[in-house]
Amino acid sequence: MSQEIKKNLIKNKSEKNKSKKVQASLKNQSPQLKIQEILKKVTPSPWKDNFLSDDDKIKKISYHYQEILKTLGLDLNHESINQTPLRMAKMYVQELFKGLSPQAFPKMTLIENEMQYDQMIVVSKIKVMSVCEHHLQPIHGQATVAYIPNKKVIGLSKINRLVHYFSRRPQVQERLTKQIADSLQIILDTEHVAVIIEAKHYCVIARGVEDQDSLTKTSDLRGHFKTMPQTRAEFLSQIQK
Ligand SMILES: [Zn+2]
Repeated sequence: MSQEIKKNLIKNKSEKNKSKKVQASLKNQSPQLKIQEILKKVTPSPWKDNFLSDDDKIKKISYHYQEILKTLGLDLNHESINQTPLRMAKMYVQELFKGLSPQAFPKMTLIENEMQYDQMIVVSKIKVMSVCEHHLQPIHGQATVAYIPNKKVIGLSKINRLVHYFSRRPQVQERLTKQIADSLQIILDTEHVAVIIEAKHYCVIARGVEDQDSLTKTSDLRGHFKTMPQTRAEFLSQIQK
């Protein structure tokens, strides 16, 4: 096969793929810009870019954590805790609060809704592992997310990734619920989205009222999920399962 034919074959194949997969939001030439656009429209977290690199953040947080532990009277020369400030700093920047960074926004590949699927798509039992912004204690629970597609559908694991991304911020559960719904509406260009989160808050379990079993439920139903009783009932029946 000549090089020329090979090249054309590859070109045709890639063009075919392109028509199937809408290079929506985040995969085209300026992905960061698109992510910024989505994040600008989503209910904001109380966050401002301070333009520090991750390394600088880790250094600063580590220093201040050291001061906190010293103030508590802990002996930072003790082998067991002398790395704790650095561990805390890395955990905040690289894990628990990674979702503050626009760069960590998950890749979203959308697929054209060729089969014109017009029923709800429900993803349930999505893990929610977040941190309450009032006490910096864990929030642990599950989300159920649904949408009725318009012209595009999304890979299902992307919904899980979206939930995980916004969970990796200091949060209040109400905002987390809204941010997931907002971003789905924007990405999928559909009004009809629904999000329910049920979670335990460790600031309620480990301190304060010390109530081990209480669950906090939040919901955000939009479009048909809000206005059409049948759609609403069908979605809510999914939760009870
Ligand atoms: Zn709290």
